[in-house]
Amino acid sequence: MSELFVIVEHRLGEIRDITFEMLWKAGELAETLSSNLTAILIGHEVNSIAEKISDRADKIIIFDDEGLKNFNADIYKEIISRLIEESKPTLTLIGNTSWGMELAPCLSIRAGLPLATDCIDIISKNGNLIAQRQMYSGKIFANVSFAESDGYILTIRSGIFPTDRIGDRQAQIVQKDFPLKDITVKKNFIEFVETAAGDVDITQAELLISVGRGIGEEDNITIVKELAEALNGILSCSRPIVDKNWLPKYLQVGTSGKSVTPKVYIAVGISGAFQHLAGISGAGTVIAINKDPKAPIFRTADYGIVGDLFKIVPVLKDKILEVKKGG
Ligand SMILES: Cc1cc2nc3c(=O)[nH]c(=O)nc-3n(C[C@H](O)[C@H](O)[C@H](O)COP(=O)(O)OP(=O)(O)OC[C@H]3O[C@@H](n4cnc5c(N)ncnc54)[C@H](O)[C@@H]3O)c2cc1C
Repeated sequence: MSELFVIVEHRLGEIRDITFEMLWKAGELAETLSSNLTAILIGHEVNSIAEKISDRADKIIIFDDEGLKNFNADIYKEIISRLIEESKPTLTLIGNTSWGMELAPCLSIRAGLPLATDCIDIISKNGNLIAQRQMYSGKIFANVSFAESDGYILTIRSGIFPTDRIGDRQAQIVQKDFPLKDITVKKNFIEFVETAAGDVDITQAELLISVGRGIGEEDNITIVKELAEALNGILSCSRPIVDKNWLPKYLQVGTSGKSVTPKVYIAVGISGAFQHLAGISGAGTVIAINKDPKAPIFRTADYGIVGDLFKIVPVLKDKILEVKKGG
């Protein structure tokens, strides 16, 4: 029987959502392709992590060693390539995260298998596998077919698939050892640095008003801040605003910022790049204000206002204050 591999991503003892997402997609494919689903779990003292996924895979192969406590692509590459050689899985799924973006290319070279990165879907059509990817900031969807090979490595974008369990599985646990002394390690883990917590927690906010690069200048952020205050909401932002040091990192929404789940999310001058959208997949009603009617944010938004934010935002704020005053 053919096999599908999912590389379990975890950090500081916590399983990352991308793992559940990959297991969901792999579970769906395993049924279509009549394959076994194997999760590969590398780390130290990872039994509680294995428990959390034991009903989502047919097998969990665990490598548990003090020397595997922290992620190291040099070591992972050797362990996984050896497993690929043994089992010849049809697909090996890895998160398209900072972890996966480091691991997947070197694993692809080491295992001699083709790699498709940042996939948003995998489709089985007439016995052939097709990976779907986005191009030009989500304006184009590309279907990628694979060159002839024994197997393929795919990195999967976060926030695309459900984190729910699919199917009814009971994993067989297989503990394996790996002679770490045989691996040449060129990088060493030094420390894990948490980002500053900040004085507000945007992950808990019920109403977020997010400002993007469309704001043009740092001083202009005031108008969006005033709208947020009028609505009793919290100000957040896209990454370029943080990169320019206009707002602190803890206000950033997206894959390299925070995933948020407000009841209402208002995106002001934000184009809707996938890295941003992945952070608002759990939001309730999304409202976008953007002057470009073709901006990808409008594909996600429940309500959209096409126009100049400098005209719209102050009017909205005044109207809200008027209503609040009972006018
Ligand atoms: C590894 C990686 C991680 C990333 N992580 C994140 C992340 O966590 N969060 C994130 O946000 N991004 C992230 N990014 C960046 C992401 O790819 C985009 O570049 C970013 O989201 C774009 O931000 P933006 O929408 O504010 O700016 P832009 O894409 O420049 O969009 C600005 C928008 O404003 C509109 N606009 C301009 N002027 C006006 C006006 N006067 N009135 C109304 N609308 C106007 C424009 O039409 C445009 O749509 C990441 C990128 C990488 C490579």
